[in-house]
Amino acid sequence: MVEGDNNKKVPDNKITIAIDGFSSTGKSTIAKQLAKALNYIYVDTGAMYRAVTYFALKQNYIGAEFFKIEKLIENLDQIQITFKFNNNLGFAEVYLNGENIESDIRTLEVSKYVSPVAAISEVRSKLVEQQKLMGKDKGIVMDGRDIGTVVFPDADLKIFMTASAETRAMRRYKELLERGHNLNYNDVLENVTTRDRIDSTRKDSPLMKAEDAIEIDNSDLTIAEQLTTLLKLSKEVIEKATTD
Ligand code: C5P
Repeated sequence: MVEGDNNKKVPDNKITIAIDGFSSTGKSTIAKQLAKALNYIYVDTGAMYRAVTYFALKQNYIGAEFFKIEKLIENLDQIQITFKFNNNLGFAEVYLNGENIESDIRTLEVSKYVSPVAAISEVRSKLVEQQKLMGKDKGIVMDGRDIGTVVFPDADLKIFMTASAETRAMRRYKELLERGHNLNYNDVLENVTTRDRIDSTRKDSPLMKAEDAIEIDNSDLTIAEQLTTLLKLSKEVIEKATTD
């Protein structure tokens, strides 16, 4: 649940916005800004899969040579994921069992293991249930891989973001360097392409564009341009929801 963000005055004609796409397409950056502009709640579902992965790493259920899937499934009820709005940052940070893990989940190590964890059906059904609850009152922008297909198949506006793998890896590489991580570009590119492959080919809720999603290739678009496009699309749908 998203705590501490209850001051939002969401109008009656609020809609549900689903943003899906490949790894590192900048979904979170744009979704966060869109939610702010509309005064909506923003939920980063990737952070939830990353939180489960962080838990699995901490418990030693997953590592370079092993993955104790059964152990993780057995202990899923020990995982409580919450979001708390941070007024200074202007977005909600993710907590695992009361501990702020917002920066711990953004490492290349968590990125390396998150897709196999996210392919487990038991993990998905636990998180999807929570995500559906978060969106029950609409007024939400949620980003991920299966939001328009599984979590909110009836979302009012569905966006599918793409960009070339090299563009995406370079963005992620720069972002991690800025955060002080020591890594090389090829490892990031390898991680991005491997995650895309696992996410797109898994049995349960594979990453794909919903039939009614609008595809945006943002390789050559600035953040401001993307925001302008998404705000325009959102306002059109909101207007239609008001007149219907
Ligand atoms: O969005 P982010 O890159 O942080 O997501 C991390 C991983 O979590 C993805 O690569 C994918 O494996 C998984 N994920 C998912 N379904 C979602 C959101 C994320 O499977 N709705």
